[in-house]
Amino acid sequence: MVTKAYGAHVADRPLESIDIERRAPGPHDVQIEIAYCGVCHSDLHTVRSEWGGTLYPCVPGHEIVGHVSAVGGEVTKFKVGDTVGVGCMVDSCQHCASCADGEEQYCENGLVGTYNGATPDAPGHTLGGYSQRIVVSDKFVLKITHPEEQLAAAAPLLCAGITTWSPLRHWKAGPGKKVGIVGIGGLGHMGVKLAHALGAHVVAFTTSDSKRADAHALGADEVVVSRNAEEMQAHANSFDFILNTVAASHDLDAFTALLKRDGTMTLVGVPEHAHPSPNVAALIFKRRAIAGSLIGGIAETQEMLDFCAEKGIVSDIEMIRIQQIDEAYDRMQKSDVKYRFVIDNATLAA
Ligand code: NAP
Ligand code: ZN
Repeated sequence: MVTKAYGAHVADRPLESIDIERRAPGPHDVQIEIAYCGVCHSDLHTVRSEWGGTLYPCVPGHEIVGHVSAVGGEVTKFKVGDTVGVGCMVDSCQHCASCADGEEQYCENGLVGTYNGATPDAPGHTLGGYSQRIVVSDKFVLKITHPEEQLAAAAPLLCAGITTWSPLRHWKAGPGKKVGIVGIGGLGHMGVKLAHALGAHVVAFTTSDSKRADAHALGADEVVVSRNAEEMQAHANSFDFILNTVAASHDLDAFTALLKRDGTMTLVGVPEHAHPSPNVAALIFKRRAIAGSLIGGIAETQEMLDFCAEKGIVSDIEMIRIQQIDEAYDRMQKSDVKYRFVIDNATLAA
């Protein structure tokens, strides 16, 4: 079905309106009319080919919420009219060890990303949520139980939410744990909310003085402006866990020095340029670890969505028209987003 979308044909030009083709739903497919789509920094990295390997035309968007408009004959979990979401993955092999463990994001045969992933559908790579509709295998569709008026603000849970939830759970953030969240953008502000909701003592690290008051409101017990060495020093050797969401290359040593013995800093940001090599002695002498984490599995994403619906947790969003997407990217690049842009997909029809 012809579907209006917004995408880029090359890395250095603005996004523009394009018509794409969505496949007719197969037996296990769910067709979704997209209501809103969050804007992740990964969209910007991909559109502008900051990581290399971008396939054009590129239609980004992997924080998708909307309503089911058709289902294939074998689909039992969803029906027309259901409120649903799609995150960063639309397929995986379903038979490797990681898939068997419900960790489809680590699929040993390669997950299929919601955009820029391999697909037999035209044009040969997946096209994401900056579009009017999407057709997705039912295994990769999530149920959204937030009230309809929170739907736009729930969209960022599909990437920013799960990407922070998964490591917070894996490294056991909770009561009695001191947890740092570095970079208060789309991911980081969700990290603060979720770590707080899980009962941890939360310290937000920001480079933006203007976010100090907000970070407390998001649920941080303490806020540190990371450019201020004295403020940093006051937290030396004290953290159980630090989640680093920064989207740019920076000095990791300033944060590993804040971990206590056996503490871990997990990186989720994927900057265009590599971080300077960390100080190995600072790791060795306190058995500290630097780790990484990729989004989260489908069952875990549903668990996070249900947790957030129950606790009334959503993102703090600024709604935009699709025509404002390049301006939104430029502001995101300057850390000027409080705290997630969400596209009103109805504006694709304009
Ligand atoms: P974002 O909204 O732009 O937030 C990033 C934050 O990092 C900024 O708001 C800023 O926070 C801080 N920051 C930016 N430049 C900085 C610099 N030069 N030095 C120090 N801090 C800086 O981005 P996002 O959507 O949250 O995504 C963050 C990163 O995670 C991106 O690289 C994205 O591709 C990646 N990502 C990874 C996964 C995964 O599965 N691992 C999933 C989604 C996204 P302050 O103003 O508070 O300093
Ligand atoms: Zn994302």
